[in-house]
Amino acid sequence: MQNHSKTAPKITTSKVYIKRLQDWSGDRKISETILSAWKYLEPMAGFIDKNSFTAIKLTFGEEGADGYIKPAWLTDFISSLKQKTENLFIVETNTLYREKRSNAVGHLHVAAGHGYSLDKLGIPVIIADGLRGRDGQNISIRGDHFENVKIARGICESDNAIFLSHVTGHMQSGFAGALKNLGMGCASRQGKLLQHSGTLPEITVEKCIGCGACMNVCPANAIGIKKKKAVLVKERCIGCGECTVACRTGAIEIKYDENVVKFQEKMVEYALGVKKALGSKIVYLNFLEHVTKNCDCMSKNETPIVPDIGIICGMDPVAVDKASMDIVGITKFKEIFPDIDPLAQIKHAEKIKLGVSRYELAEI
Ligand code: SF4
Ligand code: SF4
Repeated sequence: MQNHSKTAPKITTSKVYIKRLQDWSGDRKISETILSAWKYLEPMAGFIDKNSFTAIKLTFGEEGADGYIKPAWLTDFISSLKQKTENLFIVETNTLYREKRSNAVGHLHVAAGHGYSLDKLGIPVIIADGLRGRDGQNISIRGDHFENVKIARGICESDNAIFLSHVTGHMQSGFAGALKNLGMGCASRQGKLLQHSGTLPEITVEKCIGCGACMNVCPANAIGIKKKKAVLVKERCIGCGECTVACRTGAIEIKYDENVVKFQEKMVEYALGVKKALGSKIVYLNFLEHVTKNCDCMSKNETPIVPDIGIICGMDPVAVDKASMDIVGITKFKEIFPDIDPLAQIKHAEKIKLGVSRYELAEI
C-alpha cells in the first residue's frame, strides 16, 4: 500500500506579549506597567543570576529632544532586577555623527542630563565601546555581507542583556526597534561605519554650483565646500539623506533603492553578532510610545505618528519587531518613508536565522 502522507513543512512561531498602556502621562503608573511586563518575562530570563553582569541596553536620546525612554519609568523595574543581580548596569555605545554622544565624556554628560546616572538610578552607566568608540571585538557570523562583525567590547563581555527599544521610524531602515538597537546600537564605531558604507551620498561635481545648502543642513558636519564644489567627508557621514533633499540641482544623491535594503541586511547581521556574543541570553521590550518619524538621534521634538500603544515584549527580536510593525501599522511606516520597505530587515533576519517573523500575540 502506498503511503501518501507528506511531511508538513515546519512552521515556527514565537510568543510575543503586549502590555497595553495608552496614557503615558504619569511616571508612577508607567513604572508599574513596565514592572508588570517584566514580571511576566522574568521566568524566561532564568539566566540572570546574582553573579551575572546584566546590561540594560537603551538610548539616552539626543540633547534637547524628548523622544527617549525616561529613567523615572524604570525605577520599579531596576529595583526588581537589583534583587536578582548585583552587577546590573545601563549600557550604550557612542554615535557615529559628531554630536556630544560621539565620545564617552560627552555621552555621559547627555545621559546624566536626561537622568541616567549612578546617583539617580543606583546603577552605573557604561559606554560599551570606550572613550572614542574604538573598543570593539570581532564576532564571527555567517552572513551575506559579513563573516565577522565588530561589536562593542562592553556588550560582548556582558553575560546577558535586556534591550529596551523605543520604536520609531528611521531614515534608512524605515523602522527602528529591537533589531536596530541590537545591530547598530551595539556596534563599535568601525562596525557602524561598515553598516553605513553603502548609504553615503555621491556628488556629481559637474552639477554642483557650490551653493552650500547641503553643508548647512548636514547634521554630521560631513560636507565642506572646496573650490566652489561640495566635498564629502565619508568618515563623518551618517547617511541621513538631508543633503539630497536640500540640493536644488540634483548634484548630491544616494541610490536608495538598492542601498536601504543592503543597510537593513547589514544591520541585522550585526544584530546576529550581538545575539551570538551573548549566547541568546537577551530579553526584548519595545516601547510603542511617542512613535515618531525619526529616531531618538534627532535633536528636535517630533509629533507622534500614532497614539501611544504600550509595550511589546518577548525573547525573539524578529517576532517582537514584526509585531510592533503590525500593531503600529506597516502602512504608517511606508507613508513616512515611501522609498523604504522596513520588512527588508525582517526578511533578512529570518533568512540568517536570527529569529522568526511569525508570532502568537498574548495580552498580559
Ligand atoms: S547624508 Fe548628507 S546630510 Fe546626511 S550626514 Fe551624510 S553628508 Fe550629511
Ligand atoms: S546643495 Fe547641491 S549644488 Fe549646492 S553645494 Fe551642495 S551639492 Fe553642490
